[in-house]
Amino acid sequence: MPVETIQLIAQEVRSCKLCGLAVGRTRAVPGEGPADAKIVLIGEGPGYHEDRQGRPFVGASGQLLDDLLGMAGLARADVFIANVVKCRPPNNRDPEPDEVATCTEAYLFRQIAAIDPPVIVTLGRFSMSLFLPGERISRIHGQPRKAGGRLVVPMLHPAAALHQPQNRPLIEADFRSLPAILARAEAEQSAARPRIEPPEPVDDRPLEQLSMF
Ligand code: URA
Ligand code: SF4
Repeated sequence: MPVETIQLIAQEVRSCKLCGLAVGRTRAVPGEGPADAKIVLIGEGPGYHEDRQGRPFVGASGQLLDDLLGMAGLARADVFIANVVKCRPPNNRDPEPDEVATCTEAYLFRQIAAIDPPVIVTLGRFSMSLFLPGERISRIHGQPRKAGGRLVVPMLHPAAALHQPQNRPLIEADFRSLPAILARAEAEQSAARPRIEPPEPVDDRPLEQLSMF
């Protein structure tokens, strides 16, 4: 069951020591949201506030993320919010390639497999490059791409809109386009998956009962 898998992964993350980021963390941040979410959003990694609370996007970026989700007609409770690395890099430095590889293989990719969402929204270049390596976020933001039977929508990181206000209209427009992208992804996913027909009812009456008719 996806719910149990998600809970099990969260437990593993909270005590994980697979990479060097374990040393400097206060709390690991497994990610949160419904196990049957239609959209998984993926940030980069915990910042100061996330590290203290053990929850994703609870600082200034998280406030903006809530507003952006609202522009897509969504609430935080509707989506699963995760990160590439689950522990805060010291002083918010970029995660190292080996930290990204270790953490995503151990956790993020299993979370995505369990939830199996039609849409993944990547926030910022680290999560984009997991699915769309070699692309430039400034060129392809907001454009859904097919990857592994889903639509991956690369978006700017909310922090990029906080630090550079000229990015704000771009990220808002991208979030406003999410409902249409989700509708397309759901239609494509259900067309691609074989329908399971209910079985024919079995006539299991004993023979003597049948012979009465
Ligand atoms: N930035 C991120 O990338 N992730 C968080 O959880 C918070 C801020
Ligand atoms: Fe484990 Fe990921 Fe934290 Fe590294 S960043 S210690 S792999 S949970």
